[in-house]
Amino acid sequence: MKKDIPYAAPWVTEEDIEAVAEVLRSGWLTTGPKVPELEAAFEAYVGCAEAVAVGSGTAALHSVYRYLDLKPGDEVLLPTMTFLATANAVVFAGGTPRFVDVDPDTLCLDLSDLENKISDRTKAVVGVDYGGFPLDYENLRTICDRHHLPLIADSCHALGGSYQNTKIGAQADFHTFSFHALKSISCGEGGMITTRDTEAAKYFRLFRNHGMTKTVQERSTHQSWEYFLETPGLNYRMSDMQAAMALSQMKRLDDGLERRHKVAQIYLEAFKGDRALRPLTMHHDTGIHAHHLFVIKLDGVLLGKRTEVFQALHEAGIKVNVHYKPVHTQPFYAHHFDADKNACPTAEAIYPQLLSLPIFSTITDEDVDRVIEVVRGICDLANG
Ligand SMILES: *Cc1c(COP(=O)(O)O)cnc(C)c1O
Repeated sequence: MKKDIPYAAPWVTEEDIEAVAEVLRSGWLTTGPKVPELEAAFEAYVGCAEAVAVGSGTAALHSVYRYLDLKPGDEVLLPTMTFLATANAVVFAGGTPRFVDVDPDTLCLDLSDLENKISDRTKAVVGVDYGGFPLDYENLRTICDRHHLPLIADSCHALGGSYQNTKIGAQADFHTFSFHALKSISCGEGGMITTRDTEAAKYFRLFRNHGMTKTVQERSTHQSWEYFLETPGLNYRMSDMQAAMALSQMKRLDDGLERRHKVAQIYLEAFKGDRALRPLTMHHDTGIHAHHLFVIKLDGVLLGKRTEVFQALHEAGIKVNVHYKPVHTQPFYAHHFDADKNACPTAEAIYPQLLSLPIFSTITDEDVDRVIEVVRGICDLANG
């Protein structure tokens, strides 16, 4: 019996382990010198003015939405084809998520549906670089400027990707990233916000530390017991153990990216012209895909057969996944927020076709070949 192939997997080296062990020996368990070191490394890599480390990608989203100071009824427009957190964090910031349909080839925001849904109640636009495909930042910026709206990018899939020769993370007003176990770099749990807005960055640093105007570090160096609260915050801090691991992983970010590019090319070549297995658009005219996911649409003889294909692949040890069930169809959002049943017809039509094939930095050529072979076999079987 061959070993299972997951759809994604973390990449942990002895160097990462040593970096974390070093922090454990240093005595700084929570936020210490490693967090600003990681922030500086991230700013340099992405080419952004400010990077603020937080406890998770969800904490990053919540912090950004909180900064918008949403009032009841204020709407945040976001794509329905995303992870739950993109929408959930809006709810916890007191706003109303309004779901926008997606482009059928990239599963990123459908810009005409976006424009149709902008109203007096809209307070921000959120895009997701789905699977690692860079958003259409130029046109998104034009739309947001026309309506005087901030542009937020949930770039949790896109770290290392680029748009018009700049790394993803410097295009929107705010970008959020995640260092969850299955993201391109990881520290178990962790997140990052990037922005050029120094006032906002100051707010995020307060918000992640209860809203206290002095950090533990500052208090210890200033020999002062006093601290002040202007606006309450939460504990969204990243620990130095996490920061050390993320720093260590950043050194291999480009190597991992290169490997995922190679894997994507192998899949694209293997499925070229196949009507039943149709990869999403991965080519970008002015950007570079980060290949966080490799998503295919089942079509032709496999149309309507996802359950069977999914099951057959799992039985063969290929642990494929599905990204994502459109968020507006989730019971909570269907009941509370979107009475408009036909809000995102393209996403609903495509969802049953979606399948995410294994792609990650450490996948071997042998395993990629096995995925292709098994997927092909299922396709041949369906062809009869
Ligand atoms: C992973 C992810 C998140 C959440 O990040 P966490 O670090 O798990 O909180 C949010 N949005 C998208 C698109 C993600 O992929």
